Amino acid sequence: MKKIGILTSGGDAPGMNAAIRAVVRTALVNNIEVMGIYKGYLGLHEGEILPMDRSSVSDIIQKGGTILKTARFPEFADPKVREKAAQVLRVYGIEGLVVIGGDGSFLGAKGLSDLGIKTIGIPGTIDNDMAYTDRTIGFDTAQNTVIDAINKIRDTSSSHQRVSVVEVMGRNCGDLALYAGIAGGATTILVPEKKYSKDEIIKTVMDGKRHKKHHNLVVIAEGVGNSEEIAKEIEDVSGIETRTTVLGHIQRGGMPTAYDRILATRMGHRAVELLIEGKSARVIGTVKGDIVDYDIHEALSMTRPFNEKLYQIAMDLV
Ligand code: ATP
Repeated sequence: MKKIGILTSGGDAPGMNAAIRAVVRTALVNNIEVMGIYKGYLGLHEGEILPMDRSSVSDIIQKGGTILKTARFPEFADPKVREKAAQVLRVYGIEGLVVIGGDGSFLGAKGLSDLGIKTIGIPGTIDNDMAYTDRTIGFDTAQNTVIDAINKIRDTSSSHQRVSVVEVMGRNCGDLALYAGIAGGATTILVPEKKYSKDEIIKTVMDGKRHKKHHNLVVIAEGVGNSEEIAKEIEDVSGIETRTTVLGHIQRGGMPTAYDRILATRMGHRAVELLIEGKSARVIGTVKGDIVDYDIHEALSMTRPFNEKLYQIAMDLV
């Protein structure tokens, strides 16, 4: 392997830069050239490709976002578009490609591997919604961002004795709501994986009122439904002032935590090792703390079991 490419795709996640840095430096130390592909599959298709050296990745390990930029490029689902992208890689002499992104990005990587391009996927998404890995890069930072926001909301809400409804990211996966909800001391956590009853939420709030609780925190994953409507219903029935905060894109940004930087570094390093070993169509994950790799087809076909035990613990502590 003489030359590889690297791109970031889909939603950005803190720690992507640490992964880019690890890929570039591991490749260079093994005498492999690295080409940076800008704006994900869009930039690959358009040939937005530049060589990277050691200093291209200086001073980025602590930065959120992605220096390679990212893009949503739905056209990449079209086989003709992927064929053109594969041709661009051949023209540049890029023999192996590292793709950092979520499930959608891995579908693109699978498509390229079917065309004979050696591809390796690294999971980068704040949602932690990929079945084959315990953690994705960015999740740890995002949950800490949510906890930080919850702490601040709690200060003002308990002063006013309000109910706070906090909506966090997670369309199909409630991990961010669950983990940040537990760490933030939420009284109710609503996730897309579990049915919820409005009566139960109201009962928890009313119980809190009876026990003279100063503050009630309801954390909702965005995939559950309209948080404003849920807040209005709580206020109408309980008579307690209820405010909603939608955290939005703040959850994507910021300096990656030590955990995300180390995870990204280990995964980036492993990605290059796999390419040197001649592997293709593999995705890297972490299971019980170890760095592992799976066949991309197998990884994409897995479904993620919801952490029932953790959810139960959260419910028991209300
Ligand atoms: P996140 O979890 O942060 O949303 P993601 O990688 O799942 O990340 P998507 O927008 O779903 O984000 O996918 C990123 C890109 O991957 C798409 O814009 C598109 O270029 C490519 N992609 C998505 N689905 C496919 C597919 N079925 N075939 C080929 N390429 C795809």
